[in-house]
Amino acid sequence: MAETSIRKRVLSGMRSTGKLHLGNYVGALENWVRMQDQYDCFFFIADWHALTTDYADTSMLKENSVDVLLDWLAAGLDPARCVMFIQSHVPAHAELHLLLSMITPLGWLERVPTYKEQKENIKEKDLGTYGFLGYPVLQAADILIYKADCVPVGEDQVAHVELTREIARRFNGFYAGPVASVSLARDFDVSGINLPRGREIFPEPQALLTPAARLPGTDGRKMSKSYGNAIMLTDPEPVVRQKLKTMVTDPARVRRSDPGNPDVCPVGDLHKIFSNKETMAKVNEGCRSAGIGCIECKGWVADAIVKVLNPMQERRKKYEDNPRLAWDILEAGSARARHVAGATMDEVRDAMSISLGYEPPRSSSK
Ligand code: SF4
Repeated sequence: MAETSIRKRVLSGMRSTGKLHLGNYVGALENWVRMQDQYDCFFFIADWHALTTDYADTSMLKENSVDVLLDWLAAGLDPARCVMFIQSHVPAHAELHLLLSMITPLGWLERVPTYKEQKENIKEKDLGTYGFLGYPVLQAADILIYKADCVPVGEDQVAHVELTREIARRFNGFYAGPVASVSLARDFDVSGINLPRGREIFPEPQALLTPAARLPGTDGRKMSKSYGNAIMLTDPEPVVRQKLKTMVTDPARVRRSDPGNPDVCPVGDLHKIFSNKETMAKVNEGCRSAGIGCIECKGWVADAIVKVLNPMQERRKKYEDNPRLAWDILEAGSARARHVAGATMDEVRDAMSISLGYEPPRSSSK
């Protein structure tokens, strides 16, 4: 039977970075899997966003996009419950990006905190490009083209959603008004069911703050592929155990007989995320009294992590063995996304007086 309730729409994406790690899972993906049953979810692989910084070598771009998809499917995203697609397969994002760039003041982009930060920190790439400055406008287009109600983000991305809201407001201010009888994108949910239409062209999306679980990598810094400290979702059990064995611990615990403190130990942080209450109690008691060794403690956290990764790796195998299956999911998702995005663009073009249909010259009606 068709779903009749109107769910809020969520839009989120990940860059085409290739295989994902535990930090990606805990920081976003795990939350997305939960949201599939609460929201009308559109998740996209942002290959154009990857180009804003990694434009010089695109040889791995497509393969990286597919790897992201395989990890999404492995983690439990389900094509029957959400729409998954590749950004570049929905060219309407680029058209809306262009139109929004016409109305976005330069100053708004120059003051985006991540723009300044990344320009200062990433010295090995030339980020003095038009595409890099404009990537928040592309993000705004990604969000607004689906008329998303909510965008799940971490603290550092809130400014981008705020910018999207400002762009939506500016667009509505210039162009919103009575629209012609084109079908509106928000008239359909994932299953193509008719929904009531709103009056604004772009609703202002809300940031949905993802509880920030900061996952440490094996060297204690934030888990990141570029630091070489990540546990990948595809790492086989022996690799996970080996990586955890080398993980840094509470620096005060030099000898086995020294008591430690799980609250200042990166392994303790992993326990808090992955271990159950009983194990957590054993860690707290054993570490503080020097009753356990760090190797034993790391073994317990490895057990908990392997328990999370095993079913994912089993699910992933089905698609690794038959990559065409995964590609078919992307094609179907992209078609659904194009349908919704296309309806928004009809409305946008109409509002901006650049619609595709014939209109008699105004002067001829005199
Ligand atoms: S026993 Fe565990 S929590 Fe304590 S310092 Fe060693 S690894 Fe860290």
